[in-house]
Order: sequence, then structure tokens, then C-alpha cells
Amino acid sequence: MRSFRIGRLFGIPIELDLTFLLILPLFAYLIGTTLGEYASLINEVLAPTNLVEVSALTGDSTVALVVGLLAAVGLFVGVIIHELGHSLVAMRYGFPISSIKLWLFGGVAQLSEMPEDWKQEFNIAVAGPIVSVLLGVVSYVAFTAVQPGGTAIAAVRFLLAYLAVVNVALAIFNMLPGFPMDGGRVLRALLARNRPYAQATQIAAEVGKLFAIGLGLFGLFGGGGLFLVAIAFFIYIGASSEAQRTVMAAAFDGVTVRDIMTPDDDLKTVTPDTSVADLLGRMFTERHTGYPVVENGRPVGVVTLSDAQSVKEVERDAYQVEEVMSRDIESVDPETGAMDALEQMQAAGVGRLLVMEDDELVGLLSRTDLMTALDIIKQGGAVSRSTDSPRPALGRTN
Ligand SMILES: [Zn+2]
Repeated sequence: MRSFRIGRLFGIPIELDLTFLLILPLFAYLIGTTLGEYASLINEVLAPTNLVEVSALTGDSTVALVVGLLAAVGLFVGVIIHELGHSLVAMRYGFPISSIKLWLFGGVAQLSEMPEDWKQEFNIAVAGPIVSVLLGVVSYVAFTAVQPGGTAIAAVRFLLAYLAVVNVALAIFNMLPGFPMDGGRVLRALLARNRPYAQATQIAAEVGKLFAIGLGLFGLFGGGGLFLVAIAFFIYIGASSEAQRTVMAAAFDGVTVRDIMTPDDDLKTVTPDTSVADLLGRMFTERHTGYPVVENGRPVGVVTLSDAQSVKEVERDAYQVEEVMSRDIESVDPETGAMDALEQMQAAGVGRLLVMEDDELVGLLSRTDLMTALDIIKQGGAVSRSTDSPRPALGRTN
């Protein structure tokens, strides 16, 4: 999805996703047209001291919409500061933050690596909600310091009271116990105190899924609304993918590309002048869907089944592999970790990586190789070919 960079804070790029640019005017409109309802909601929370009064604002629809826009922007600035809370603690532990991104459901601080030390994960996860609570307290103190007055003062008082309530609500919402909310990470950190990390993730993910189902049912039948159902769906997906990623990372712990690749000796390759018809014939008999294209012992491209099928059936004798192959070679070093190789494949959107060592093709790693290895490891077998360092098949057992 397309996103726009708006600047940097503490060296971290701040990005707006396209979905955020759609949601901001909607928020501004929703707040601006229902200022009275917001005010009575806020007053219920703040009661009985120092209440907001919006009659000066609701009379003029332009004023109301401007206040709505400022409130929406204030809310999202609060979200950025919340994410900065996570980011600054993470950076103190040495984890680089690639960006802070605002999108449909709020903000995400993108850590390029996840901490596996429970104390670090706990501190990074709680930092955001703590910052939001502090922001709420500061807004509240500022609100009580401003005495009621004319239209401008009424607007400032409404905004400060709104930010006080909304930042505390943001902290509470984020402490809900599901991935990718902060509460899910806090829960995993606490579970990981006395269990392996992968197991803690699985338990936290199960709790998150149950919670998401409850939230979704409440959204559907308890009057929570469609937005709640969407959030529930998002938490459910988040729990599933987090669990899957962690289980795979644990299984592939210590496994390198060399351990699971199809090595040089077994490697099937084609030459650039192979006809597309011959290529398809080999794909059929050898049951491979992609081949490295090699010329004079050097890889020059990769050709896949879909490349071959892009040629009309009657023309397949006339076309050669070099006319349909992809020349962008995604390569990987044999000592790279299996999990890193998988992530590289996903990032590049390819199904296979050429394994290169000192500029020479030494093997091929396909998604099938990875999935087969994962199945073997899960069933308790070892895939390591290295004889010098025997290790337990399931990696982490601390
Ligand atoms: Zn957070």
C-alpha cells in the first residue's frame, strides 16, 4: 500500500499510509458534527469538576468542523507520540526502528528485529501506553488551567479535555490482550518469563484469538458496531501471523540455507537457448516449476512455469528461454539463516533463491525446500547436513 513520508523525529521516518489520509477527514467530520455528544461523553468522564461547554462552538458549522479537524489531528499526534514511546525504549536497547507509520487503525512502529528477552519486550510494549497516560494527564492539567471564556477559549478547552480523555482511552485500548496490540506483547513477555519464547507466543496468540472472537461477537450483536468487528478481525489475523512467524523462527533456529537447499549436484538447470516447448516438457517430467538459467557455467536468469505459459501454445517451439526468463536474480549466501531466506523470498515476491558462493552457483532454495524442511523439523527430524555441530532438531529449548 502506498505511503507518504512527512518528516523525521529522533531520526525515525514518520509515514502516512493512504488509508490514513482517507480516515482523517472522516474523523474530522464525525467529531465536528457531533461535538455536543462528545462534550457530554467527556463531561461524564470528568464529572463533577470543571466541565466543557460547547454551545459557543456548535452554533457555527464552520467552527465546529475546524474544531473537529483539530481534534482529529490532535488524536493522531497522540498516536505518533505513543509510537515514539515504544521506539525510544526499543532504540535504547539497540533495536533500529525503520519507520513509524499511521494507517487506518492507528500507528505502528516498525522494529526491524523483535526482542526475545522478555524484560526488553515488556518495557518496549508498556512504554507506549505509559506515554499516552502521561499525555492525557498533561492535557487534563492544561484543561483545568484554562478558565472558561469566549469561542476561542471554548475551543481550546474542548480540545484539551478531548485529548485528556482520548489519550487515556488509547492507552486502555492498546492494553487489550491481543496481537498486535501492546497488551498482547505484554502478555507474551510475562508468559516468556518461565517458558520458551515460541510457546509463550502460542499461548498469547490463543488468548488474543479468543479475545478477538469475543470482541467480534460483541461488535455484531452487542451494539459495538462494524468498526469493532473490523478491529476484532485485525486482532485475529495479527494473532495468527505472529504465532506462525514465531513458530517458524524457532523451528529454523540454527538452520542455514546450505542445510536445506537443493545442492549443485542435484541441481537441474536450463540454457538460454532451450526452447519453451522443451522447458515445459522438462517441467512436466521433472516436476519442477522453476529453473536457474545457466550459460557457460554462470547463472543469467530464472525461468518459471508462469513465464513459460506466457507464450501461446503454438509459438512455444519458436520461443527460447532467454526471451521469457527473468534476469533479476535473487541470490542468497549458503550461510544465511533459513528464516532470513524465507523473509527475503517474501519481500522479493519470488518462489526460489539462487544460492551463490564466491560468484558461483552452489544450489537452489525453493519455497518447497523450506516447507519440506519445516515439516521434517516439526516431526522431530534433523535437517542439518553439517557433521561438525550436531544440535537438537527443535532449536530453542531454554
Ligand atoms: Zn502501542
